[in-house]
Amino acid sequence: MSTTNDFYTILGIPRNASQDEVKKAYRKLAHQHHPDKQGGNEAKFKEINEAYQVLSDPKKRSQYDQFGSAFGSQGPFGGAQGPFGGFSRGFDGFDFSRDFGGGNRGFNIEDLFDLFGGAFGDPFGQRREKKQAGREPARGEDIRISLKVGLRDVARGAIKRVELSKNVICGECKGSGANPLTGGLVDCSVCQGEGEVTETVGSLFGSFTRIYPCSVCLGTGRVPRNNCSACKGEGRERGKEILEVNIPAGVKEGDTIIIKGGGQTGFRGAQAGDLYVQISVEPDKIFKRLGNDVIYELPVKLTDALLGARTSVPTLDGEKEIEIPAGVQDGDELRLKGLGIHGPHKGDQIIRMKVKIPRKLSGKARKLTEELAKEINY
Ligand SMILES: [Zn+2]
Ligand SMILES: [Zn+2]
Repeated sequence: MSTTNDFYTILGIPRNASQDEVKKAYRKLAHQHHPDKQGGNEAKFKEINEAYQVLSDPKKRSQYDQFGSAFGSQGPFGGAQGPFGGFSRGFDGFDFSRDFGGGNRGFNIEDLFDLFGGAFGDPFGQRREKKQAGREPARGEDIRISLKVGLRDVARGAIKRVELSKNVICGECKGSGANPLTGGLVDCSVCQGEGEVTETVGSLFGSFTRIYPCSVCLGTGRVPRNNCSACKGEGRERGKEILEVNIPAGVKEGDTIIIKGGGQTGFRGAQAGDLYVQISVEPDKIFKRLGNDVIYELPVKLTDALLGARTSVPTLDGEKEIEIPAGVQDGDELRLKGLGIHGPHKGDQIIRMKVKIPRKLSGKARKLTEELAKEINY
């Protein structure tokens, strides 16, 4: 514990410090003394937070200025055991450098919109919108993966299992972040369970009240009484998850399948991110894809080309008997309706004839061919 209980001394700022300087000093010290950090100090951290709660609010600050430090220990702000006790727990696992919508921003365009929205717009709508935005940082991150599938998978659709190394819900606290043995969740002491904090901002246009989501409970209004020891209050832990990815028929190279909620688990049970699965279709040994059609090249013996023949060909649905018409030309195509890639519209299988000429002839074959040459003339 510090030997002083003067809020200005705690934050190391002069009594005439601007609101901006108050914020800057607080950010720096809170970062430095965060209990999760090496050399962090929970008591000091609480003290800094108490001082900030008073000095960052112009109304509370002017009361404090009038009534002095006695106000800090006995007054409505409470001492270390007062309503701000336990404050630090909410910060666990939370990155100060990120902008959560309140706090450390300067006066910018977005703030201007906030001000006008708050002053002239529908205050309820505004509140709800801000609250939503405040939950955003707690949402889990999206995950992007690439998945190799075969042509046969995309032709008829398939279910593929993928194993992801990711944040999963903490098994100990079931995602709440609260130690289940010592009290679960309690109202956030910073926002009194409201999920949002009101701040008065001075600007060119006068003084405005700004409502922003509470950065301690991330707008939920609830914080763990004691952090879960397994996840340190995050509500999530490293783990593996096996997910089934439904590959619809007709998917193309580079298409992305989105699995809602398949991404990283959110902070303390907040919404999970999404899983983006980018499809990469591996070339097939037998079929070539052309849009929704597949091309199969059929080797045709010279004699079969001349005389015609029945043969069986592979299709995406198994072997099929086909007829090679007599007199077929190299490159001629036969179409098997509906045997291509399925999906919104069914493609065909195209059989492309590849007439094979023998490279060598036996003596007898040569003689017969010479006779044939005299016979056919085209
Ligand atoms: Zn946990
Ligand atoms: Zn809160």
